[in-house]
Amino acid sequence: MDFSRTVFFLVVDMAKAYRLRACSQREGSVTIGDMATLSPRDILERLITIDSTSHRSNRPIADCVRELTDEPGVRTTEFVDESGEKINLLIEMGPVREDRAGLILCGHLDVVPATEPEWQSNPFTLAEHDGHYYGRGVADMKGFVALAIHAFRSQRASTLSAPLALLLTADEELGSRGAQRMLEIWDPSRIIPKATIIGEPTSLWAVRMHKGHLTMRVTLRGRAAHSGSPHLGLNAIEPAAAILNTLAELRYEYESMRTGVSAFFNTVPHPVLNVARIRGGEALNVIPESCVIEFGVRLMPDQSPEVAIEIIADRLRRSVLDPGAVTIELINNNPPMLLDENAPIYRSLTHQLGQYETVGVSFASDGGWLARLGLETVLWGPGTIEVAHRPNEVLSVDEFHRAGSMLEELVATQCGGGP
Ligand SMILES: [Zn+2]
Repeated sequence: MDFSRTVFFLVVDMAKAYRLRACSQREGSVTIGDMATLSPRDILERLITIDSTSHRSNRPIADCVRELTDEPGVRTTEFVDESGEKINLLIEMGPVREDRAGLILCGHLDVVPATEPEWQSNPFTLAEHDGHYYGRGVADMKGFVALAIHAFRSQRASTLSAPLALLLTADEELGSRGAQRMLEIWDPSRIIPKATIIGEPTSLWAVRMHKGHLTMRVTLRGRAAHSGSPHLGLNAIEPAAAILNTLAELRYEYESMRTGVSAFFNTVPHPVLNVARIRGGEALNVIPESCVIEFGVRLMPDQSPEVAIEIIADRLRRSVLDPGAVTIELINNNPPMLLDENAPIYRSLTHQLGQYETVGVSFASDGGWLARLGLETVLWGPGTIEVAHRPNEVLSVDEFHRAGSMLEELVATQCGGGP
């Protein structure tokens, strides 16, 4: 057993010891003493066991990660939202480098709900058979987070020439709201490494661009009245037809639009607009007072959400007779991500992988917001997005271990440390 870890167990205070036990007790086979020698699989097992569905507080899983990484020389910062229930964790070791050298391993701690009846095992217990792990989040993305924690635990602060950091976010599955909140309270004078790997499941392809996801709401206001007295009312559903027509026009325009990075998106090389929800009206004999239309837009990596929002809002306002009766709101902006192909971390990773192709993906990640912190973000992680958000989420054990070895190698290259 490593001496520094022995000291850690001796100095741990009572509150910590309690949390530590709470983290360990979730699976009876592992005792506190095993903490020092946890394998990536052990860590994954602990993470899967904690239900961190986005609608819950992520405090339990954040506490568990803190325990797993708490040792001398490690600096942990919590970015907590107003409720105190949602935590982004920044855990750092090694020297602070003015040149922003080093590496950030980034992942989200939340998972989507696992309520589908098709689950063949408990989604919050790690199952293993036929060379695969099963459980909610094995691919998206507790598998990567477990590997990142393991790689972090394998390092000693005193041997690193550049810092290694873990950045673990809340509410990614709700449209990267955790990353967005972190950005809002970020102290710009703080120095962290630039190179960032976000472990979304990309089947171990390095991905430097993804689409964004904007969600917007249009509310049309009318005046309720008995349908027998139409002179007293104003129908809020009728002008919805014009709004829907304009959204359909925009959708067609998007479909024929090509941008500078369309070539990297094989199946859908254009922005996408989806009218997702509409509701209005109360009863069949009442003139409806309001109508609400919600839609989503997946912008290309080289498109600006702020510009798109302006254009869409303007077109919608101009499409109705009474713009005063329309409210247009942004529900959420999860920006696209686009990293320059010459960014050192991308070159280093693709070199290590022997990857020559540029791959774009159509799902969004925390990378859109984090790039605005000046981070150079690349998506790279084990597992495939096809099984994410689905019952019996699966990850190949082989791929998990392969990713682990590559990650240790990358940490050594970027931070100069060794296990
Ligand atoms: Zn994810």
